[in-house]
Amino acid sequence: MKFGLAAIIGRPNVGKSTLINGLIGTKISIVSDKPQTTRARTLGVLNRPDAQIVFVDTPGIHRPGYRMNERMMAEVEEAMREVDLLLHMVDASERLGKGEQYVLEMVRFAKARKFLLLNKVDKINKAKVLPVIETFSREGLYDEIFPLSALTGENVDLLLEAMVRIMPEGQPMYPPEYLTNQNERFLVAEIIREKVLHHTRQELPYTTAVLLEEFDESRRTEGFVRITASILVEKDGQKKIVIGRGGQLVKQIGVEARKEIEDLLEVRQIFLGLNVKVEPGWRNRDPLLDALGVG
Ligand code: GDP
Ligand code: MG
Repeated sequence: MKFGLAAIIGRPNVGKSTLINGLIGTKISIVSDKPQTTRARTLGVLNRPDAQIVFVDTPGIHRPGYRMNERMMAEVEEAMREVDLLLHMVDASERLGKGEQYVLEMVRFAKARKFLLLNKVDKINKAKVLPVIETFSREGLYDEIFPLSALTGENVDLLLEAMVRIMPEGQPMYPPEYLTNQNERFLVAEIIREKVLHHTRQELPYTTAVLLEEFDESRRTEGFVRITASILVEKDGQKKIVIGRGGQLVKQIGVEARKEIEDLLEVRQIFLGLNVKVEPGWRNRDPLLDALGVG
């Protein structure tokens, strides 16, 4: 039996959460095309007859500005410290930016074994991947390099086999039904946030948070759960955007979120109440960050 921990790191938006969700087979981490979607360290547990691998999904690496970002980067560093394998993911369909250097420095100092994942190869001509492989090979840091697509699953099976091979012998740490360290309530708030991100652009991804105000499961055995949540934004103008004309957008967000929450909680009907609240400076307030599960 093999057992080990693998952390996935990389720039925002390269596809880290998509890969982990695909490997685990459940959405444990929300995905969007906006940066800074993953704010907290999320564990996902992959169970096979011959191995258990615990994945640590991390917020994308960027230089800290706000207190929130500082806490997010502390999460990344801590996640890297104790793992057996570090998966450094790069978006192979984009030009390598300066920010990649910052990630490389973090990779360089990690003691774990290292794989480089060149993601999104479904978007590009295969010939374009070779020079990227060469560039990174020159660093001499990686045990193996995998071009893959987290979205289509191309080469993900190869990666998984290699991960199992490289992990140390050991017994599983978690029971087989355990999929994630994130609790239901956090996942509910994250689903709502994902829908907000999906429908908005520009500064909203950075300035939106979702706080659960009420989670009433007294009638859960009958198939009903009542949830009230606040969508926090920083400015009045952002509140208007999220609400939308005549309340259309927040309604749409509610419809989409409700369906997914019903699946997650395995209940027949969710009563979902959404408020949009202006909460200036929430990203710098530790008590609120604690409540939101950032860092
Ligand atoms: P993270 O910030 O690194 O966790 O990235 P996400 O997993 O949230 O993905 C960011 C965006 O890239 C989303 O829109 C994904 O659907 C998209 N994406 C992820 N992996 C792939 C891939 O292999 N191919 C393509 N075409 N898109 C991908
Ligand atoms: Mg993510």
